[in-house]
Amino acid sequence: MPQPERFETLVLGSGNGGMYLAWHMARSGRRTAVVERHWIGGSCPNINCLPSKNEIWSAKVADLVHHAASFGAKTGSVAIDMVNVRQRKRGMVAMTLQQYKASGAELIMRTGNFVAPKTLEVRLNDGGTRVLTGDQIFLNIGTHAAIPNVPGLEAAGPLTNIEALELDYVPQHLIVLGGGYVGLELAQAFRRFGSRVTIIEYGPQIAGREDPDVAGEIRRIFSDEGIDILVGAEVRHVQGRSGQHVSLLVRTSSGEQTMVGSDILAATGRTPNTAGIGLDVAGVELDGRGYIKVNERLETSAPDVWAIGECAGSPQFTHVSFDDFRGIRDNLAGGNRTTRDRLIPYCMFTDPPLARVGLSEGEAQLQGIEARVTKLPMSAVLRTHTIGETQGFMKALVAARDDRILGFTMIGPEAGEVMAVVQMAAGRPAIYRCARCDFRASNHGGRAGLALLECAAAKEC
Ligand SMILES: Cc1cc2nc3c(=O)[nH]c(=O)nc-3n(C[C@H](O)[C@H](O)[C@H](O)COP(=O)(O)OP(=O)(O)OC[C@H]3O[C@@H](n4cnc5c(N)ncnc54)[C@H](O)[C@@H]3O)c2cc1C
Repeated sequence: MPQPERFETLVLGSGNGGMYLAWHMARSGRRTAVVERHWIGGSCPNINCLPSKNEIWSAKVADLVHHAASFGAKTGSVAIDMVNVRQRKRGMVAMTLQQYKASGAELIMRTGNFVAPKTLEVRLNDGGTRVLTGDQIFLNIGTHAAIPNVPGLEAAGPLTNIEALELDYVPQHLIVLGGGYVGLELAQAFRRFGSRVTIIEYGPQIAGREDPDVAGEIRRIFSDEGIDILVGAEVRHVQGRSGQHVSLLVRTSSGEQTMVGSDILAATGRTPNTAGIGLDVAGVELDGRGYIKVNERLETSAPDVWAIGECAGSPQFTHVSFDDFRGIRDNLAGGNRTTRDRLIPYCMFTDPPLARVGLSEGEAQLQGIEARVTKLPMSAVLRTHTIGETQGFMKALVAARDDRILGFTMIGPEAGEVMAVVQMAAGRPAIYRCARCDFRASNHGGRAGLALLECAAAKEC
């Protein structure tokens, strides 16, 4: 075994939080190394968020062109060139390396395995190894797409988000397993590129964590675009090969049916990258699902070892990985931040997008919180008519007891931007003025909250 090299800060996995932590520590003068097997900057800029949003935008352009006539623009025949779609995506994924160099952190592009507590081994190309010890260790190793244990599915070579975003052809009939945000975003994009698309969801509704009216609206929008959706559907068996021909035996409440497609995409959740890397040797305990056990300060069961992002079971968004970094950084500087009660906004980049911050109606009911619910269809906002995007609604939840904004959900144009504004006020008593009648919200017969929304919904002004 080679002589161990000692680092003050050692980061395994270069996800968003781990990367910022490494840069912060290195810039603070600590000897820092990051061991990353594949993706400089982690999944978000390489294979997840940015590539998917990039291709989703190509799909939006395709959709606009297809509907150009309704805006008075005449086009000739339109074709999708997936090689160009892919090339555009590839062009934007290599931006992070320079910042690594500038930070002073050493980036070691290898797979890391623990061989002892706080000791990592990395195998080199020439067959040799490096052994690295860290005074403080940070695990930011992420997750990968889960392939459900359905007979024949693995042998069918299903696409995950990674391969789907690398396709250079438009699948003739894409069958999407899973109606969560990854499945929904990609389903709509490929429909707009010209695929026939079927979504198969095991649960009772797509977008399973949203209220039924929200999921219903997305389903309606998708159905209008010609996307077939099966809910409460269990795939029993798969035959064939994705990219050629696949045949699925699917069971629903109305019996069994055989579905035939050309390609199959597995978007049924994530599995943590924690297996087979010696975490047991390092004294890092896992929970029953393989995620790293952490407390509210993201400390693992091993002293001086923290976990960040998805591998720690944190909500699966890049901004959460970044927030995990901020919490750890502040605590190491003497702070007392925890992950408890974090307000986590998110956006699903379908078209129109779905954005939410705070509680849904169902969550408020489950928690026994009395709340007023107010809804405004997007068609009531005149701006949406000017751009021909009138689908969706805004839905706000306001605490009955003290008028605090508890939650806001929107399906509609620029939902993520609108939600960000509401987020700033969430948790506080709503003191907005109604933009139409200039009355304070509380003047509206006690109906406080998002004043304009409530006024407009109640048609009071
Ligand atoms: C299709 C898709 C779209 C998404 N879109 C969005 C979005 O729009 N907005 C959003 O907020 N979130 C989105 N997400 C989620 C987001 O990508 C993740 O939550 C985010 O990347 C945070 O991940 P992380 O920091 O936990 O780890 P990751 O970014 O996954 O980083 C983990 C890193 O660890 C490395 N690694 C693992 N094991 C080892 C090892 N043993 N040795 C060395 N290196 C190792 C991996 O190669 C990887 O680079 C999307 C996810 C998917 C799948």
